[in-house]
Amino acid sequence: MPNPGLTPGSMFLSEYAMKSKYSIFSLLRNSLSYHQNWERKWRSPDPKPAYDVIIIGGGGHGLATAYYLARQHGITNVAVLEKSWLGGGNTGRNTTIVRSNYLLNESAAMYDHAIDLWENLSQELNYNVMFSPRGVLHLAHNVHDMQEIGRRGNSNYINDVDAEFITPDQIKTMVPIINLNCRYPVMGGVLQRRGGTARHDAVAWGYARAADSLGVDIIQNCEVTGFDIKKGVIKGVKTNRGVIKAGKVGVVTAGHSGVLADMAGMRLPIESTPLQAFVSEPLKPIIDIVVMSNTIHAYVSQSDKGELVFGGSSDPYVSYSQRGAFNQLEHVVGPLVELYPIFSRLRMMRQWGGTVDVTLDRSPIVSKSPVKNLFFNVGWGTGGFKATPGSGHVFAASLASGEMHPIAAPFSIDRHYTGALIDEAAAAAVAH
Ligand SMILES: Cc1cc2nc3c(=O)[nH]c(=O)nc-3n(C[C@H](O)[C@H](O)[C@H](O)COP(=O)(O)OP(=O)(O)OC[C@H]3O[C@@H](n4cnc5c(N)ncnc54)[C@H](O)[C@@H]3O)c2cc1C
Repeated sequence: MPNPGLTPGSMFLSEYAMKSKYSIFSLLRNSLSYHQNWERKWRSPDPKPAYDVIIIGGGGHGLATAYYLARQHGITNVAVLEKSWLGGGNTGRNTTIVRSNYLLNESAAMYDHAIDLWENLSQELNYNVMFSPRGVLHLAHNVHDMQEIGRRGNSNYINDVDAEFITPDQIKTMVPIINLNCRYPVMGGVLQRRGGTARHDAVAWGYARAADSLGVDIIQNCEVTGFDIKKGVIKGVKTNRGVIKAGKVGVVTAGHSGVLADMAGMRLPIESTPLQAFVSEPLKPIIDIVVMSNTIHAYVSQSDKGELVFGGSSDPYVSYSQRGAFNQLEHVVGPLVELYPIFSRLRMMRQWGGTVDVTLDRSPIVSKSPVKNLFFNVGWGTGGFKATPGSGHVFAASLASGEMHPIAAPFSIDRHYTGALIDEAAAAAVAH
């Protein structure tokens, strides 16, 4: 019998702690065998015939959901079905920016909840996700930008989200390589010090390992090809490895949510477009903060390996392509060289793309659906990495209880019918 004084989550803490592997002692122990005996991070089980909950999509959001289901709600008969490899979707393709300084109250609640969890995530998972709250600075290049950061910064104050207005002189001190008097001169900025970056693969791996330790089955190369729905109730999923029954199903398939919704006979108000990013050759430390520029649509940060990570806007057409294209490179590099002339001799190393599912109001859909016990957590568009822990946390609570968590409730699909949109489209501008 569980101790009634414990929360459902803490019931599993001792079991989980026993399975923790990473510490100075495990490092020393494994060094004695030349690091040949480390255990696999997660098992590779065959699917069982039935689960209490199936999560479709082994990205950060799906894995986080599975982890919190087990850890916080004691629901361990859970499978995460991933059609390829863990984190191979947008989780492993993004530019890793974490922040919560969105305009509207609903977004502030969601993204700030995520930052609260980011701050302790490495300890919670016993896995270094390399969360680096180095600060995220948005530049303003014209009067409209100044008004936008003013409006958003004040909204952040009201929502208890940290925001600091920064003068051009302060920006020059923080980012000495910047050229303030470029074609669109820098007039000011707004800084969120709690924002920063995290290592995206580690987030997927950390959640996967922790969920697996709690009994969750993580099944890669398992593609969901259809749903088993009877009388409006979900009964299971059809996969390339057979039919698997489920009490509840959560669809967490960024980039392909329209495809999954179609299998369930629904149309989501979503467009799927490519979003590209680039990294340079590694350099010595040159910029220790994330700098974003909405007007010229380019942003930069430096990874721990020294590579400069660049990105811009999504491609202006719908496609499932996950490749880079020259026009986007040109579009981002031109303004970046104006802003940082020192980058003109930089060699680029890699370019790639991901498919982002974008909603009408640029806010996600975290929601029940017309099919009973079929839930969606999709539509995070160009900016869902930062929300990973918060999204997984509130979605797990919603799946466990069958009712949407208060932070998730405003992100219901119904808002597209009622008109209660959470319009971050122009508000948060570059939505990474
Ligand atoms: C280039 C780029 C830069 C970005 N930069 C940032 C940033 O700086 N900050 C930020 O906050 N966000 C950013 N994002 C957005 C962010 O990456 C995503 O919002 C977030 O990672 C979504 O996570 P996820 O777990 O929902 O999706 P994913 O990681 O894409 O996981 C979904 C998974 O579902 C699987 N799947 C799909 N169909 C099926 C099926 N039928 N059966 C089984 N599995 C299936 C896919 O293979 C995939 O692994 C960026 C995105 C891109 C592409």
